[in-house]
Amino acid sequence: MLIRILALLFALQACLMAEEPKRPNILWLFSDDHAFQAVGAYGGRFGDLDLTPNIDRIADGGMRFDRCYVGNSICAPARATLLTGKHSHLNGKFDNKDTFNHDQQQFQKILRQNGYQTAMVGKIHLSGKMQGFDYWEVLPGQGRYWNPVFITEQGETTYKGEHSTDVITRNAVDWLENKRDKDKPFMAMVHYKAPHRNWQPTKRWKEKFKDKFFPEPETLFDDYEGRGFAAKNQEMSILKDMTMGGDVKAGQPERKAELAGIDKDDPKALTRLKYQWYMRDYLACIAGVDENVGKLLDYLEESGLAENTIVMYSSDQGFYLGEHGWFDKRFMYEESYRAPLVVKWPGVIEPGSVNDDLVQNIDFAETFLDLAGIEAPDDMQGESLVPLFKGETPTDWRKSLYYHYYEFPGFWHAVRRHEGVSTARYKLIRFYGADVPDGEEWEFYDLEKDPQEMRSVYKDPQYESEIAELKQELIRLKDYYGVPDDFGGKPLK
Ligand code: CA
Repeated sequence: MLIRILALLFALQACLMAEEPKRPNILWLFSDDHAFQAVGAYGGRFGDLDLTPNIDRIADGGMRFDRCYVGNSICAPARATLLTGKHSHLNGKFDNKDTFNHDQQQFQKILRQNGYQTAMVGKIHLSGKMQGFDYWEVLPGQGRYWNPVFITEQGETTYKGEHSTDVITRNAVDWLENKRDKDKPFMAMVHYKAPHRNWQPTKRWKEKFKDKFFPEPETLFDDYEGRGFAAKNQEMSILKDMTMGGDVKAGQPERKAELAGIDKDDPKALTRLKYQWYMRDYLACIAGVDENVGKLLDYLEESGLAENTIVMYSSDQGFYLGEHGWFDKRFMYEESYRAPLVVKWPGVIEPGSVNDDLVQNIDFAETFLDLAGIEAPDDMQGESLVPLFKGETPTDWRKSLYYHYYEFPGFWHAVRRHEGVSTARYKLIRFYGADVPDGEEWEFYDLEKDPQEMRSVYKDPQYESEIAELKQELIRLKDYYGVPDDFGGKPLK
């Protein structure tokens, strides 16, 4: 009898094991400062240039997210949020200068504890030893485009004569092919430095856009009249703040000739030329990322891994490509607040689908855990995107997002501190700090009527009730996320 019971139990166990779904691999492709306007799948003014055929392969075979936002639009804090699933005030990484506490909980540590092989190759912009990775190889700080140095558990390696985008891909493929434990599912982060300032592509990527004219944004000559102190007093101007040397490399022979062909004292002519140079380098850096994304997608297909691997491409924030006359990020205005996100999951995500729910970078960590069948810890602040991947957005999905930018005073770009709340249609922003008039200044936008955010309607009585509602929503979100009221501004309540 006992033997029969044991045999039955054994058969049952074998049956359960056989039916357990194979946990998916996760390949998380990422870049630095890649604006959604410069992803082919999003269309837009560069739609005819075939900017990113390989990133578009992910979108075509999966889902494009049209409303993916960040909680704090700047490099290192965004990455801290991605690893921890928490807004800046809880993970302690408010700005690029703060030290990141690697000892805190991070999604990759939990994945690893639960049987995943984990790797991080490329730019993470969080100094100190990485934790929770079976393999890590990262650029120190911002890293270099050329002759990059990479740090591993064992020490430093310099790749002479090579471009960081190529090295990152090659070493990631090497880990996937030769270094990981193939009996376990993997989560690999392949994070490029490109297209971060100061935009140094290789010659072969520059060829793609040789002699191309890049359409200008409608707001290239914005005079900021419709907005407040912060928009008028930033240092993000293509004309004034983008350097002629390091940034647009005006000393290159062909650029010298182009410069000689315009009236340098005409600010509009100079802005236009600098914008063309900026786009020529920036988009060529993206062509490099895209070519390398293609290599990784090809590797997955050739190795047979593609079928059970979720591929995701995103960037740490958005970026201004001349909109409002700017480069860089930081503001809660759409171009820098919003990030690209495309995800492919064969057999689950419907190819070519589009999602317009409000998602945020606090969601990534919990999504990765959910994909691995792991329940997220209570103190993570996002939501899993897995139901959205399946086309099953929960009826109680969030209707608003919280944002907070802290890096002022800072070394770069002079964007004043601000926090805000956005819904599908409206956005309320509160700039604050000692030099902001009266200590704080509010802006309010109706994105349906003014998608380019050219005119704050905060003082328009027509919006009185919407503004009052969003102020209440801001208070509610700060309470929900546990944001203290004392970050140098006036208390909100
Ligand atoms: Ca960045």
